Amino acid sequence: MRIGVLAVQGAFREHAAMLRRLGAAVVEVRLPEHLAGLDGLVIPGGESTAILRLMALYGLDEALRGFDAPIFGTCAGMIVLDRERLGLIDLRVERNAFGRQVASFETELAVEGETEPFHAVFIRAPWIAEAGPGVAILAEVDGHPVLAREGRILVASFHPELTDDTRIHERFLAMVEEGMSVRA
Ligand code: GLN
Repeated sequence: MRIGVLAVQGAFREHAAMLRRLGAAVVEVRLPEHLAGLDGLVIPGGESTAILRLMALYGLDEALRGFDAPIFGTCAGMIVLDRERLGLIDLRVERNAFGRQVASFETELAVEGETEPFHAVFIRAPWIAEAGPGVAILAEVDGHPVLAREGRILVASFHPELTDDTRIHERFLAMVEEGMSVRA
């Protein structure tokens, strides 16, 4: 399977390395034409304002509106996908929501459908402030949703590409496989 990683800014190399480890062919996406033939796309963490500005500059925002394969957004990537930005998932994200005191932290996260906790790294992370009825919440920190799925879109507040635990990426690749069988 061919997975694109949006490579305009942020932690795209780490995502690419993890996806390759899981057997995917990875394409770095910098221009709309790089989306052709992809089975899925990862939008990494970084700085959402910069990512959005660069996406608009290269026409990637428009191009993504016509992209119908699964998308996984982490941290800034989750912000980019929300209602007020690209509008590809029905939720409102609050940026830097954990505040200054605990700007960055790591925690053992209970994830829906997993028996073992997931060691999650949060870096000036957003949380989900509001989610539409079609959104499944898959993990929370102190009652704030930090992992969610709506249809083909998966979003995480944290950085699963920065640990050795591949389970969240495996979930995304399972979504990609489902999508490929639907389109086949
Ligand atoms: N605070 C960043 C933003 O608002 C996101 C941080 C991250 O992606 N690690 O864009």
